[in-house]
Amino acid sequence: MRRETRFAAVLREAAAARRAVGAFTCYDLLGCEAVVRAAEARDAPVIVLVGPASFAARGGERLLAAFRAAAARAPVDVLVQLDHASDRALIARAARAGVDAVLADGSRLPYAANLAFTSAVAEELRPRGIAVEAELGRVEGDEDQAAQVAGGALTDPAEAAAFTRASGVDLLAVSIGNVHGHYAGPPALDWERLERLRGGGGAPLSLHGASGLPDADVSRAVALGIAKANVNTELRAAYFDALGAGVVSRREALDLSGLGEAVIHAVTDVVGAKLALFGWAAR
Ligand SMILES: [Zn+2]
Repeated sequence: MRRETRFAAVLREAAAARRAVGAFTCYDLLGCEAVVRAAEARDAPVIVLVGPASFAARGGERLLAAFRAAAARAPVDVLVQLDHASDRALIARAARAGVDAVLADGSRLPYAANLAFTSAVAEELRPRGIAVEAELGRVEGDEDQAAQVAGGALTDPAEAAAFTRASGVDLLAVSIGNVHGHYAGPPALDWERLERLRGGGGAPLSLHGASGLPDADVSRAVALGIAKANVNTELRAAYFDALGAGVVSRREALDLSGLGEAVIHAVTDVVGAKLALFGWAAR
């Protein structure tokens, strides 16, 4: 029988309570601490996302080890996922480094090549208890840089059902008008498409680019069964604002720990607000 990964179990339990699991990109331990504190305050499981550029960079293995150590000491379920990786060698390295999940991103490939790539990753990782998220259709925009972008190629519901059955992935990232970074115009999500994707009987669905979506849209997506929602840009904006103000006010005293706390507080507030939208009330 197909074994359920810990990652999939966390998503399933949240979905049973009609909640989405929040996934938040972290670039350092201040961001990670903010995510853990916000999760603890709401007794929510969370996913710490590590971008492929962060992991591939010098020190990336040490950063990931630090996130795993933070996760192991958290009072709630904290899972670590390598985000948007299209390089098999990088995925293999992340698996060895102990991630709970990877996003095997073949969304730039034609359908058959995406399926072959994703299936190979799933075959390699799932027996080791590591979950695999795939992306079908294309969510436009850059993960690490904010720029205004329009929607990419929307996910086809019939293709999505066939894709998840054939690949055996735990989760599917869909493109329904969502983008990474800032939206070029008012976001217009394709709700009918989301309902058809949900009704297709495939894997649970994730929504990337939850930064910049109106709260009502996020709530609606969660109500329609989105299992996981990714947030990045808004956390970086809060980080920069708090850092900028703190550098000025704390420079004279060289109060580095106070500066770090100010950043953590600002990011915690944003993560907490997103978790509330995803269905996790404050304790
Ligand atoms: Zn993404």
